[in-house]
Amino acid sequence: MERKTVQRQAIREAIEEASRPLSPQEVLDLARARVKRIGIATVYRTIKSLLAEGVLKAVDLPGEPPRYEPAGKHHHHHFRCRTCNKVYEIEGCPKDLKRMAPRGFRVEGHDLVLYGLCAGCA
Ligand SMILES: [Zn+2]
Ligand SMILES: [Zn+2]
Repeated sequence: MERKTVQRQAIREAIEEASRPLSPQEVLDLARARVKRIGIATVYRTIKSLLAEGVLKAVDLPGEPPRYEPAGKHHHHHFRCRTCNKVYEIEGCPKDLKRMAPRGFRVEGHDLVLYGLCAGCA
């Protein structure tokens, strides 16, 4: 395989196999375990093209640089550890969020982020 293809594959696999959204630096660290010669510029460039192709989705948490996860996952939320700054995927969604909106308002979506300490840091 061409070097570019190998790098792209390593980046894609790193993100797909992680069970949580990854920052570009985390993608780089994991991709390096597969392909030695890979740099942060390649990670950024590849993420950009995978986003454009709809393979990846950006996870934007307030005040945080974006992280990335595979597109097309079912509805879920995230937990951010304030110590190691890793973001985890969490299952479940509060059922009655729509009822919090004032009368006559139509809710079209919601964002919900839990934060605290992960099991490794607590
Ligand atoms: Zn942690
Ligand atoms: Zn939800």
